Amino acid sequence: MYKPELETMDREELEKLQLSRLQETISRIAEKNPRYYKKLGEVSPRDIRSLKDLEKLPFLTKADLRDAYPYQLACVDRSEFLRMQMSSGTTGAPVICPYTKADIEQWKDIMGRCYMAATVTGEDVIQITPSFGLPNGGFGFHYGAEAIGAFYIPIGAGRTLLQLKLMKELEATVLTAISTYPLRLMEVAKEEGFDFRETKLRVGIFGSEMWSDELRKRIEEGMGIETFDIIGMTETGGVGMGIDCEAHNGIHIWEDHYIVEIIDPDTGEVLEDGQEGEMVITTLTREALPTIRYRTGDITSVVSREKCDCGRTHIRVDRFKGRADDMLIYKGVNFYPSQVEKILLKFDEVAHDYQIILDRDEGGSETIRLVVEVTSPLSEQQVARMKRELADFVGITVDPEFVKAGELPRPPGKAVRVIDNR
Ligand SMILES: [Zn+2]
Repeated sequence: MYKPELETMDREELEKLQLSRLQETISRIAEKNPRYYKKLGEVSPRDIRSLKDLEKLPFLTKADLRDAYPYQLACVDRSEFLRMQMSSGTTGAPVICPYTKADIEQWKDIMGRCYMAATVTGEDVIQITPSFGLPNGGFGFHYGAEAIGAFYIPIGAGRTLLQLKLMKELEATVLTAISTYPLRLMEVAKEEGFDFRETKLRVGIFGSEMWSDELRKRIEEGMGIETFDIIGMTETGGVGMGIDCEAHNGIHIWEDHYIVEIIDPDTGEVLEDGQEGEMVITTLTREALPTIRYRTGDITSVVSREKCDCGRTHIRVDRFKGRADDMLIYKGVNFYPSQVEKILLKFDEVAHDYQIILDRDEGGSETIRLVVEVTSPLSEQQVARMKRELADFVGITVDPEFVKAGELPRPPGKAVRVIDNR
């Protein structure tokens, strides 16, 4: 049931609700799962008197969740599970998020809110392109569409030609996708002479992979739409934890369901608002698998806890800069692939794909290559400019190598931006 008043609560009221829900969550873990409770240091729920006391609790990591495969941290009986989603287990055991009936309701609620924040209503036609399978994206967008009563096209991943055909013929107004998929759609549209301006598409809701402001601008111009950046992960119950609103001044995270902390990834110290660090999430309303102080790996900062221009009072964090484990160190310089992308996409000739290849030469020194797809060659001055910006803003000295658009291998699933052979 959609309740807009929950999104405009006073901060004081919101924090009171968070505290009581946090106490309830810890009580439930204490009662239902001794292993999990032990991991929390068996802190008494009575010792959590303020939100600041959350800092007394240890962090939960992805490794902890993997070690608990499949359900060892679950806080309900298996008979109460209704369904599950699973994070891609590219390395090690996967993470499973089981859902109770109430968890599905919670998911519907937050996804419905996300659609509303992105100006989507029951009048819209939503094309859902993330897969309907173990990753959480497809089902999240589906539950949200049901919550707001919108018509949706559950096409799922791939089949790009069919996507374009249905988008046009079924008059989709909203596209939901993994954030690099719109580029694939645009690429195929170009080959097919398909014009997005002849469709009814007006809104894009994208997430799951880091996408820079430059990439966003390119998608918005290419498709003639307004885009919204949605966040959420399997470990916290799936997509829909937050989204940027029409004001586009930070991503709101639904604070009646989640507590947000930003920490120094090295020391674990909680940082002041505005300082950049790793986002840590505590779920307040998840039944089957509540997560306490989960280290998400996403790098961001708190933009504001004040009321937004849209009227919502829930916290806003910056668009993600990357993941803590995406950070590269080359010859002592720390940087994120997103910083390189930002510079590359300033040049219209650059297509969207690029690869950073790190290696060692025979003498053991680190080497870096940057291979960039282009639609047409860059002038000498442009290349010089690109090199200067990479050196000045990112701190790396590299001669970019250019290949034709489409020449970099494109494996299915997430884009491969970094190859580290060191
Ligand atoms: Zn807002």
